Amino acid sequence: MRHVASRPTGPAYEAWRNRAVAARNKLVEAWEAEREAAARESRSVAWKHKFNEDLYKEFRQVFLFEAFHRKCAYCEVNHSDGYPVQVEHYRPKAGVTDNRQMIEHSGYFWLAYEWWNLVPSCAHCNTNHTDPLGS
Ligand SMILES: [Zn+2]
Repeated sequence: MRHVASRPTGPAYEAWRNRAVAARNKLVEAWEAEREAAARESRSVAWKHKFNEDLYKEFRQVFLFEAFHRKCAYCEVNHSDGYPVQVEHYRPKAGVTDNRQMIEHSGYFWLAYEWWNLVPSCAHCNTNHTDPLGS
């Protein structure tokens, strides 16, 4: 990755951050509850992620593109002229690939709302950094 942003600051970010922490805690609690239930019922963990899409949209609009100067984090193409750009999780939030094969892994769901784990990526770079279950 070529471009690294600094931590956003200010009251708008702090308000967003509080909601993101609450959303992450909910995910972690659900994960622990599912693990306990699976152990109790002697079955494998059936983990389904439910992410808060509004938090992503807001983060992207308010902080992310500014923080990266409207550039793709990988190739630094400027996307302010409407060039399509997606928000990518540097550490995937759901499912992990190894050599492009899905492997047994819960995904780094606890990092789903960390500012440093969210990067803008142009469509080209995003296809080359595979996160098959999400953006
Ligand atoms: Zn790119």
